Amino acid sequence: MSGTTVRTEAIVLRSIRYGEADRILHLYSRDRGRIGAIAKGARKPKSRFGGRLEPFFRLDLMLHEGRGDLMTVTGVTTVDGYPRLRSNGAAIGAGARACDAVLRLLDAAEPNPPAYNLLCRYLELLDAPAADRSPLVAQTETSGERTSNASLERALSFRLKLALAAGFAPELASCASCGEAEHLSGFSGAAGGVVCGSCEAGSFPFSEGAHAFMVEALALPLSEAPAADPAALRQVERAVGETLEHHAHVQLRAAA
Ligand SMILES: [Zn+2]
Repeated sequence: MSGTTVRTEAIVLRSIRYGEADRILHLYSRDRGRIGAIAKGARKPKSRFGGRLEPFFRLDLMLHEGRGDLMTVTGVTTVDGYPRLRSNGAAIGAGARACDAVLRLLDAAEPNPPAYNLLCRYLELLDAPAADRSPLVAQTETSGERTSNASLERALSFRLKLALAAGFAPELASCASCGEAEHLSGFSGAAGGVVCGSCEAGSFPFSEGAHAFMVEALALPLSEAPAADPAALRQVERAVGETLEHHAHVQLRAAA
């Protein structure tokens, strides 16, 4: 075969059945960003690829790069299969939304280590044993509401950090239109951040809680996502969503 062999680690974002027995993979790789690859014979019962060419798998891949758009998978070992994530419906949903966000937002074939590491970290946290997920959740284990709020806080922290890694972090320090540092009462996706009272045309009301959540979420590790009430979290989701719509031209799925 002509062409070159590439070795890289990657997360499977999407895995599509193709033809009689093949699979097409959408991968997010550590060394090359987005990669499209074909795994020939992957769906045969005795395939040497086993069952690891599925979403969320973190793989060490050998890929053959020929002339076509797709690379060909020639070897694969599992770095992490995130088995607990895979057996938990809520975690699967969260992982799928995260992979979908990476699919839509990071389509370039160039490395973005912060984005790659962030995705790995989020899948790791979704895979953590239930007791380790969050001290707050453990304290109030009976409260389903608290659990789902903590999941949403982490999902939105992931989204914000992903936006930052992709180069679309919202302006949070001063009015995105005029630079005013006080009276930041709205958020405008078109302006790309918080806006002051004089620039609020086209913005939506943005609470102090939502503003504080975004600032803290960007500063803290993903494992320490800040707390916020549901109304503030809705504003955060809208703020991130509208920023990405206007500036990255992508629409994300609902966060929960
Ligand atoms: Zn302003």
